Amino acid sequence: MRREPRNSPAIVLRQIDYGESDLIVSLLTSELGVLRGYARGARKSIKRFGPALEPFSQIEIRWQPGRGELLTLLDADIVSTRQGLRLSLTNLALAAYAVEVLEMLLQAGEEQSELYSLLQGYLDYLSVQGDPALARLLFELRLVQHLGYIPHLLHCSECFTLFGEGNIAFDPARGGSLCDTCSDGKSPLSVGLGTLGSLSRSLQTPIGLFDGFRFGSRTLKEGAIMMALILESVLPKIPKSLRFLQQTTGFNEP
Ligand SMILES: [Zn+2]
Repeated sequence: MRREPRNSPAIVLRQIDYGESDLIVSLLTSELGVLRGYARGARKSIKRFGPALEPFSQIEIRWQPGRGELLTLLDADIVSTRQGLRLSLTNLALAAYAVEVLEMLLQAGEEQSELYSLLQGYLDYLSVQGDPALARLLFELRLVQHLGYIPHLLHCSECFTLFGEGNIAFDPARGGSLCDTCSDGKSPLSVGLGTLGSLSRSLQTPIGLFDGFRFGSRTLKEGAIMMALILESVLPKIPKSLRFLQQTTGFNEP
């Protein structure tokens, strides 16, 4: 890796206090995915960082490779601190949830232009008081699709029959949607064709787009259960922020 300083647009995922006045910061960048860096004196030096390293901020970071795994963060310009997120405890908790999930799933240093756009659109939407249930469903749906977990929505995962009408079984352990014959009454969930159609259509849109969507209450409900089932099997542990979402905001799991 080159030693001279570089500039990267980045989203701040998390910061941890280190020593008296330093910070260790996780960032998501488009080109290099998750980066972790060391910001010397960041809690005292208003000039170099100011509030730029607050979680969920959109920044332009100047950095260079460090000695160990951590980069050396030199200074940052703020594009937006997304203060609007702080106006709603639910939206703030949803921001924390997405960031925690991405940190669990992404390896450091791999290009992540799609998931960078996804997180950027999601945080921007939540910071202007977007609909929390819709934001969460679109984020989770696009995330699991990007990771390759729901290849089959509108046809049976096992016999590939296209669905025509009625309720469809859903079992992430068997690849997703299942017809009656294949499911044979053994699936954990039944969902409507309308739900699968809405979810499938929303996957045809740009990954960072959140404005202008409308989901019916059934789609929101069934979609949330589908995502919970998938993420349960994908995530290495239950995100702490999910408990925070449930406990402090009354934003219930399905
Ligand atoms: Zn089938």
